[in-house]
Amino acid sequence: MSANRYLISFDARDAFHRFTDVLVVGAGIGGLRAALEVPPELSVLVVTKDRVTESNSSYAQGGIAGVRSPEDSFENHVEDTLVAGDGLCDRDVVEMVVREAPRQIEQLVEWGTKFDVEDGELALTREGGHSHRRIVHALGDSTGFEVMRAIIATARNRPNLTIWDDTFTIDLLTHEGRCAGAVVARNGRGTLLVWAKQVILASGGCGMVYRETTNPPVATGDGMAAAYRAGAELRDMEFMQFHPTVLYVAGSARYLVSEAVRGEGAYLRDVNGDRFMPAADPRAELAPRDVVARAIFRTMERTQHPNVYLDLAHLDPAMVLRRFPGINRVCRKFGLDITRDRVPVRPGAHYMIGGVTVDREGRTTLPGLWAAGEVSSSGLHGANRLASNSLIEGLVYGSLCGRGAAEAARADTRGLAALPVRYPIPPPDADDRLDVQDLTASLRSLMVRKMGIVRDRTRLLEAHADVDFWCRYALGRELDTRAGWELQNLLTVARLMVDAALRREESRGTHFRSDFPDRDDAHWGGRRVVAPPSESAGDFPNPAAGADRLKPVPLTSPATTEEEF
Ligand SMILES: Cc1cc2nc3c(=O)[nH]c(=O)nc-3n(C[C@H](O)[C@H](O)[C@H](O)COP(=O)(O)OP(=O)(O)OC[C@H]3O[C@@H](n4cnc5c(N)ncnc54)[C@H](O)[C@@H]3O)c2cc1C
Repeated sequence: MSANRYLISFDARDAFHRFTDVLVVGAGIGGLRAALEVPPELSVLVVTKDRVTESNSSYAQGGIAGVRSPEDSFENHVEDTLVAGDGLCDRDVVEMVVREAPRQIEQLVEWGTKFDVEDGELALTREGGHSHRRIVHALGDSTGFEVMRAIIATARNRPNLTIWDDTFTIDLLTHEGRCAGAVVARNGRGTLLVWAKQVILASGGCGMVYRETTNPPVATGDGMAAAYRAGAELRDMEFMQFHPTVLYVAGSARYLVSEAVRGEGAYLRDVNGDRFMPAADPRAELAPRDVVARAIFRTMERTQHPNVYLDLAHLDPAMVLRRFPGINRVCRKFGLDITRDRVPVRPGAHYMIGGVTVDREGRTTLPGLWAAGEVSSSGLHGANRLASNSLIEGLVYGSLCGRGAAEAARADTRGLAALPVRYPIPPPDADDRLDVQDLTASLRSLMVRKMGIVRDRTRLLEAHADVDFWCRYALGRELDTRAGWELQNLLTVARLMVDAALRREESRGTHFRSDFPDRDDAHWGGRRVVAPPSESAGDFPNPAAGADRLKPVPLTSPATTEEEF
């Protein structure tokens, strides 16, 4: 993939600088949980590219999985996770996360999260793939909103913790093979270099690489692409989980219609009003997500209709309105009464299982860089994520990363300084303009058509050729807008995804190849597709050039203070 090591040119000699012990990229559940683990004597800066409330975490609906009922056990939760993961989970990671989950949920309660309560206990619900009721939820179907409200409020009260919103992380800084901070652009206030003893990446997923997605616009895979450029290993990028039922009203934002709706008895019907799930799987509407998503895809192809319908009309209207207030509110905006009208839905990209490889403590392969949450690949989800296991992963790995990064920062006695890094990108030809909006739309549409729910070699090779072509002319340029950098990151991530999907010649979990429809343990049992670090990774080719004139700026006299930015 032809690409620059950094998306923009800069020179540490004439940049603004900011220093912090720990830098956290992303203010979702993974990032803020990590930041809250950093002890008061260390400074932690959290940067987020939008408002602090804009993250996948804030939109989470169903809840957080954790064993709480006496009828349930850790063994059950481990087993359910392993079954969903289809032979690719790391068992030790699963055990660790499952056992840690109840403590993390208690911590959220201590920080003020108001989970839904029944008979004086936290109410527990059940979702597809779970053998027991073990999912805590809040505000009915707006768990993420409530959890993030409490976490953000707690974070804002920590004197050692600073949150910068509207701050786009363009790239991770590396020097002598270590991650040393990030190049960030603060909205309306220019670009600066943030130097940190340790960096935690918690920038979330990349659902926006598809035209149909449940993810908010911030999910453009920036952290995955930046880590790749910086030389960290990524893996499992072929595993994008599609949610079967995303509201499909032309022109509206795509909104997830929770699996719990089918859990409460809703039917899926085709455009002719016929139920199609009983013929597709004995579990009918309650079959696993990937099975339902593929059945919907095939029904849409057979009927030549762009969506199918969820039907709740046979259910008790009072229960429907009590249980799904959020979904009801959104549908009302489009004149749909969920107790009566059929709700148009189709599958959409929901959760990126792959990402930056981390070890059991959250370390990436790049020294100085940690990763937590959807940006990472911890081995918890294997080839298919069990519902409600991702918020808990963000909490557990956020804690691990925060603790590990804090210990490493404390042990680092070198002090903080600006390092001799610079990166020049040649200016473009005068008339050479890139239509960012058009290319972004083309990429997102291509991914739905050629790298969607059902894949085959022919379509994947076509996707590969197109993405490769776009990468060749878009990645070498220096762009200066958020939309431009996001496009470059989406292209980078798309290319890694298509490569991985081509290489895995079997069907497993969320990855379905119609030309290799069976799971093939003989060739692929337990094997992961690893994307090697970018070939252009590394520091500026000749860091010594100019380094002599670049004096490190000591922590005691920062070049810039936060107030100035
Ligand atoms: C609609 C929906 C419903 C879901 N429901 C559930 C559920 O019920 N249970 C469950 O377990 N999981 C659920 N998930 C999945 C879960 O919400 C996510 O996997 C999880 O929240 C990811 O957390 P995170 O901290 O890794 O990333 P996010 O919460 O997405 O946070 C990423 C952060 O990084 C920031 N960021 C991104 N790029 C940059 C950049 N370049 N510079 C600076 N900042 C950047 C973002 O602005 C954001 O602050 C759901 C997801 C969606 C979309």
